[in-house]
Amino acid sequence: MTTEIKYDFERFDGRPGEPYREWRIGLMNFCSTKADESGSSWADHLLDIDMGGAGPGAPAIPPGAQSLKMIRLRLARCKNTYGAIVKHISDSDLVKILATNFFGNGQLALNYLNTMFDTPVRRQDLRELDKKWIETNILNDVGVNEDSVMNFAKLLTRLNGERPAANRHSDNEMTEKLLECIADSSRHFHELAMTEYNALPGSRKFEVPAGLPNAGSRDFIGCVDHYQRLWRSAVKSRMIATMPPQKRIISPGSSRTQSADAIEAYAVKSFNAGARRSPTNTRNTSPPFHSIHILRQAGLKLDKGTTTTTNFEEVPPDDIAMIVKGGKTDGFDFETCYDANDRRSVDIICDCCRGVGHMRRQCPSPKQYRSFGYVIKLLELARNRTEQRAQQNKGPTSGRRPIPRGQRFPSRSQPNSFQPSPRSANSSYDTGGRSGGNECNVARELSKSASKTIMTEGEVKSMPVSLDDFFEDEILS
Ligand SMILES: [Zn+2]
Repeated sequence: MTTEIKYDFERFDGRPGEPYREWRIGLMNFCSTKADESGSSWADHLLDIDMGGAGPGAPAIPPGAQSLKMIRLRLARCKNTYGAIVKHISDSDLVKILATNFFGNGQLALNYLNTMFDTPVRRQDLRELDKKWIETNILNDVGVNEDSVMNFAKLLTRLNGERPAANRHSDNEMTEKLLECIADSSRHFHELAMTEYNALPGSRKFEVPAGLPNAGSRDFIGCVDHYQRLWRSAVKSRMIATMPPQKRIISPGSSRTQSADAIEAYAVKSFNAGARRSPTNTRNTSPPFHSIHILRQAGLKLDKGTTTTTNFEEVPPDDIAMIVKGGKTDGFDFETCYDANDRRSVDIICDCCRGVGHMRRQCPSPKQYRSFGYVIKLLELARNRTEQRAQQNKGPTSGRRPIPRGQRFPSRSQPNSFQPSPRSANSSYDTGGRSGGNECNVARELSKSASKTIMTEGEVKSMPVSLDDFFEDEILS
C-alpha cells in the first residue's frame, strides 16, 4: 500500500555544498512558519534562540506556574524539528544515521548535517553558479509581463545571494546583467539599455553619486526602478506582448524555493491555462500549432481552429506586438490565408530567404536579397517537378503526404463567406485543372498578390522569364 506524502519543501539528497545550503534555506523557511504559545518558532529552536535556548537573546523560561508548560513546548519543538528534518531527506542511509544518533533532537541533527554537508564552495559549485548566472534571462526565466523587470531583478538578487560572499557580483555586474537582458529581450528598449550599458563612469544615468558609500559604481536599484516603470507602461500599451517564461528554472537538485520567482511570474495575470507547459524546457518541442495561443494572448482575434506551421514561441515579444497591431514587421512578413474548408492559417515569412516559419535573424541562408518573384518561380518549378515525379510513381506507393488542416487546396486570402468586390477574382483563382498535392500555400498567396500587382499595372500578364526580370519586379528600398 502506498500513501502519498506531502513534502513542504524539496528533499535533501545528500549532496554537500550548494545543494545542502539550498535545502537548509527551505528547511529554515518552513520552520519559521511554525510557532507555539511561547512565541518561539521551530526555526528559533534550530538556532537555539527559542525560549529556554542557550543562544544569544534567547528568552528564559519564566518561573512559576507557566514554566512546566514552557519546558514541554520546548521539548515538542525539539521533536518536531527532528521530524521535519528527517521527513525532508531522501537519502535513507543518512536518515538511519540521524535516527541512530540524534533521534528526536532537531538541533543535534542539524548540527551534524552542518558539519557534514555545509562544505566550502568548491570550484565546481562556482562554475555551476556562473553558468546559471550567464544563462538566466528575461524571456526564459520570468517571461514578459508588466513586472518582468522587477521579477528579473529579484531573481538576479537571489542568484547572487546564493553565491559565497567572496564571489558575489558587484552592483556594476548586477546592473550590467540587467541592462544586457533588457536589451536582448526587447528591441523597443535595446538602444536605451545598450547606451547605458556602454556609458563610461561619470556619464552614466544610474550611478551612485559622490559622497555615498560605493560612490561611482552603477546604481542597481535606480536602474531597476527606471526600467520597471518604462517596461510596465510598454506592456500596458501593448508595445511589448506578454509571454510566459519559456523555461522554468527547475534543474536537478534545485529546491522548490529556487523556482518560486519563476512560478510566481508564470502565474501572472495575463497568463491563462492555455499556457500550460511541462516543467522542462519545451522550446522547439511543442508543435507550432499550439503556439497560436501566443498571438491570442497578445490580443489578436483568431477564429477557433486557426493553424500555423510557425512556432510563435520563437518570435520575440516586440515582433508579436507588431503582428497584433498589424504594423510593419522587421525581418519577416506575417500572412494569413484560408483553405478550401475555410480553415484559417497564419505564418511568418522570412524576408531573406522567403521561407516559412522563421525570420531574418534566424535565417540559415546567406544574407542575400531574393525577390518574391524569384522565389515564387523556384517554388513553382519545384512543385511541377514534384508533381511530375508523383505522376511517374503513380500507384499505392506514390507516398503523397496528407495535407494538413489549414492547407487544403485551393487557398484564398479571404474566407468563402467574404464578399469580394467585383474587380477581385481571388476566390476563383486557379481552381481548375490541378489535382491538389503538396502545394505551397504561401507561394500561392505570394504568386497571387504578385500577379495582381502586375495586372493592375496593366503590363505583363505572365510571369517574367529571366532571372533578371524577377529581381526587377520589386523596388529595393
Ligand atoms: Zn530565411
